[in-house]
Amino acid sequence: MTVHIDIDAPLTERILKLKKERNAVILAHNYQLGEVQDIADFVGDSLELSQNAAKTKADVIVFCGVHFMAETASILNPDKTVLLPDQHAGCPMANMINARQLREEKKKFPKATTVCYINTTAEVKAESDICCTSANGVKVVESIPNNEIIFVPDQYLGHFISTKTRKTMHLWPGYCPTHARIRAEDITRLRSEYPNAKAVVHPECRPEVIAMADEVLSTGGIIRYARREDVKELIVGTELGIIHRLRKENPGKRFIPVTEQAVCPNMKLITLEKVLWSLEEMAPLVKVAESIRVKAKAAVDKMLAIV
Ligand code: SF4
Repeated sequence: MTVHIDIDAPLTERILKLKKERNAVILAHNYQLGEVQDIADFVGDSLELSQNAAKTKADVIVFCGVHFMAETASILNPDKTVLLPDQHAGCPMANMINARQLREEKKKFPKATTVCYINTTAEVKAESDICCTSANGVKVVESIPNNEIIFVPDQYLGHFISTKTRKTMHLWPGYCPTHARIRAEDITRLRSEYPNAKAVVHPECRPEVIAMADEVLSTGGIIRYARREDVKELIVGTELGIIHRLRKENPGKRFIPVTEQAVCPNMKLITLEKVLWSLEEMAPLVKVAESIRVKAKAAVDKMLAIV
């Protein structure tokens, strides 16, 4: 199909026109650049984006996030075209374990059930019994009859879940380099500067940071928490991109990032220009090999069935 676009029209206008012509939907993670969030059809956390990807009627999904997210959309929609506007937008945490390493881990604990965080490659999902996100990790682990769990790849999310359940959990030593920059001493300082503020942090943070928070929530959970009437000032311990949405949705409230250093460079690779080029060229494509996809889908479907 030939699509006629005025190349001198504003970028946003060109994206929206092309999106319509391609019957595309734009999904964006809460950590994306503000201007990318603003042109998206839906902005959310990994769970919300997976649920959205599972039910979309669009022919094309433009995934503004990182590679494992686009892969998950492709796992759930094998007949749709899934585009990741920058093919280099990976997740270092997801790359901290591969399928071979997980197979070795499973040999060490042959009776354990394997739970993978959604921040994993399709190959690792295919080796896992069930997937989870930061929004539903406790619920997923609690739903498993087995008392012994292998949890990959985020040791901090795994540790947080282990404090909420009585399961024996074998944690893979992965972590998010961006959330590792969020320090407990920064929260102590901000609490004395803003004595009336609540503090929320993401469960990818270190345990000593989690111990200081009023609430430990996924990004979707933080967005909902900020809407509460009794929340006027909020210290926010997660990737900086979420501040854009919090301020946009809650004018008059104060949002204080724990650190300006918590920026995920991979999330920021997606720009409006790349979204446009991606729709023009219908590339870069993300597609999972069928033999892997079917097994990975079983782990994702199990999660979606209990949340
Ligand atoms: S914020 Fe952390 S976990 Fe999320 S994509 Fe970036 S590196 Fe991966």
